[in-house]
Amino acid sequence: SADTAMYSAKNSGRNNYQFYVPEMNADAALRLQTEHQLHLALERGEFELHYQPKVRLGSGHGAGSLNGAVTGFEALLRWRHPQRGLVAPVEFMSILEETGMILAVGEWVIGEACRQLRTWSAVLQEVPPVAINLSARQLGQAGFAETVRAIVAAAGVDPRLLEFELTESMLMADPESAVTILQCLKAQGMRLSVDDFGTGYSSLAYLKRFPLDALKIDRTFVRDLPADSDDAAITKAVISLAHSLHLRVVAEGVETAAHLRALQAYGCDEIQGYYISRPLPAQACAGWLTQGAELAA
Ligand code: C2E
Ligand code: MG
Ligand code: MG
Ligand code: MG
Repeated sequence: SADTAMYSAKNSGRNNYQFYVPEMNADAALRLQTEHQLHLALERGEFELHYQPKVRLGSGHGAGSLNGAVTGFEALLRWRHPQRGLVAPVEFMSILEETGMILAVGEWVIGEACRQLRTWSAVLQEVPPVAINLSARQLGQAGFAETVRAIVAAAGVDPRLLEFELTESMLMADPESAVTILQCLKAQGMRLSVDDFGTGYSSLAYLKRFPLDALKIDRTFVRDLPADSDDAAITKAVISLAHSLHLRVVAEGVETAAHLRALQAYGCDEIQGYYISRPLPAQACAGWLTQGAELAA
């Protein structure tokens, strides 16, 4: 099939390559079908949010006891497809972004997180904040901060219970306008964090100017802790940088007790990952909300 592709490209007699490979047509057809189904998914109520807890990593804790240490939940989008079952973002997020559907879906995500916060607030005295991932398209949308304000006000939720996660590339694409939008969100009381930190490019000058609350260390730096000395050095440097800027540090992708112990030794503030909990449907969060984390030693 690679030969076929090269052959058609060579014979097209133009600079732009033309592929007539059957498998690629099948890929394109599947993508088109997925796109069509995504257009209907919102009105059919096929999206849902799962929630992954973050827990505090105090130096006083042994690895076996993190009771009551939940600091928040991250909302993660899932698509309940009638035939394919539960579909993860990697399967559809790029389509939502390229088509612009992420704007409508993103607004649904904010509204749904607010509804969930209301539900939890009705039965609990204290509700931890929920973090929402944003995409570049949303941040670039005119009036985004105002849209957020309207959704949150309509839901009757305390804006301080919402956090937004943004990546370095989103922030650095147009840092001046990002500063303005983040200041608007911050003024409403929302928290702001940088996701996947260390995998993109950040200007330290801007990092200082963005009104941030936390940096989330990308899981690629956590994966090989503590054995990989480069990753250990990077992780410690990020923690030190964050603390110098008065930011909290959350480590993503904590999968083992060894990861937890290393991050504890480096002075990381919070952790998130399969070792603590997978992302859970809202109904399955009750134990985390009322009892806090219960880790097996
Ligand atoms: P992210 O924001 O960096 O989220 C963390 C991802 O790592 C999640 O994947 C989570 O399930 C996964 N994860 C958590 N703990 C572990 C661990 O210990 N090990 C490993 N290997 N993975 C872990 P998920 O839910 O598939 O989401 C992938 C990405 O999709 C997210 O990365 C985020 O960039 C994007 N995304 C998810 N929901 C939304 C949304 O509502 N809006 C937007 N714009 N993007 C979203
Ligand atoms: Mg995130
Ligand atoms: Mg991340
Ligand atoms: Mg990510």
